[in-house]
Amino acid sequence: MAQSSSNSQLQPLPSDLLLDLRSDTVTRPTEGMKAAMYAAEVGDDVFAEDPSIRALEARCADLMGHEAALFCPSGTMTNQIAIQVHTRPGDEVVCDRLAHIYNYEGGGIARNAGASVRLLQGDRGRFNLEECLGNINPPDSHYARTTLVAVEDTCNKGGGSVWNLAKLEALSLEVRSRGLAFHLDGARAWNAFVARGQWGDVNAIAAYGRLFDSISLCLSKGLGCPVGSVLVGPNPFIQEAHRVRKVMGGGMRQAGSLAAAGLHALDHHVARLAQDHTHAKQLGDTLAAHPDVASVDPVETNIVIFSLKGNQADEAVQALAAVGIGCFAFGPDKVRLVTHLDMTSDDVHEACRRMTQAQLIGPQV
Ligand SMILES: *Cc1c(COP(=O)(O)O)cnc(C)c1O
Repeated sequence: MAQSSSNSQLQPLPSDLLLDLRSDTVTRPTEGMKAAMYAAEVGDDVFAEDPSIRALEARCADLMGHEAALFCPSGTMTNQIAIQVHTRPGDEVVCDRLAHIYNYEGGGIARNAGASVRLLQGDRGRFNLEECLGNINPPDSHYARTTLVAVEDTCNKGGGSVWNLAKLEALSLEVRSRGLAFHLDGARAWNAFVARGQWGDVNAIAAYGRLFDSISLCLSKGLGCPVGSVLVGPNPFIQEAHRVRKVMGGGMRQAGSLAAAGLHALDHHVARLAQDHTHAKQLGDTLAAHPDVASVDPVETNIVIFSLKGNQADEAVQALAAVGIGCFAFGPDKVRLVTHLDMTSDDVHEACRRMTQAQLIGPQV
């Protein structure tokens, strides 16, 4: 039997924890969202008969400039379905070494798709065109067939880094002209839209969406929904994705209330991400002035990653938990904080006050 690991991310928090900055997945549905969920019309979604899910799928497809979409339980599933549809066993996937699809999906690229991975060394998850093209194998039977390039915008392990639009356009053109598929892990694409000033410009977002052959969007991160991700793409791709979703056990029945939460979030929770970004900058500025902090990665969206003056990330996480702040170690000397819908400006102000007073690391040994 597989050994259960002591994953620090799974340890329970002290019950008096007030300021939960571990992740943007910790939010509770708002009253407005709950009302929308309660009122949702539902049907059997495996038969594609749930009106709320169909409405969410149509809205996401339309928004991203594509033909169709598929509602799924998680972003891991939408990514893994896309990889399975785009590749055959033995193929190779190109992505950055920080990519969620490689680091945080349980080895699913190998396990689910039977594909290998070529990792690129980007800048906080953003690789350049030359490096990408240099890692596409030539059509020679010695090599794995490279069939998919994936990008992550924003990049989680890159500290919420935002891709430059022109770089994505160039990548899309070159990758697709070589016959490869181009996938977006857009778990936090909403944050990227807001950071780039694209939200509200439907043409800009559809044009961005059309750079990709498939797109995974999460509703359960910054948008504050309890569950759900949407996979977007052309009709034939989504038809095949529907089959893979069933195989993976992701076909849901009367799940329309979850889709209603997503529709509510699209109306009410995207533009407000700008607030989360401001809050993250405030946390980053406070940390940059802390004597125990060596550096803070540039804060571009709702994620703050800082490095300590020593490999004592676990101690710093404990020290912050002791003053009621939840966060995760993100490497031996790195800690991650994430702002979200349930963190008010007052909460962030209080978190800054407590962090300033906390001793984050002990004496160096
Ligand atoms: C959270 C996340 C996902 C999907 O995670 P689930 O927990 O399976 O919904 C995918 N990609 C990135 C970048 C993420 O942050």
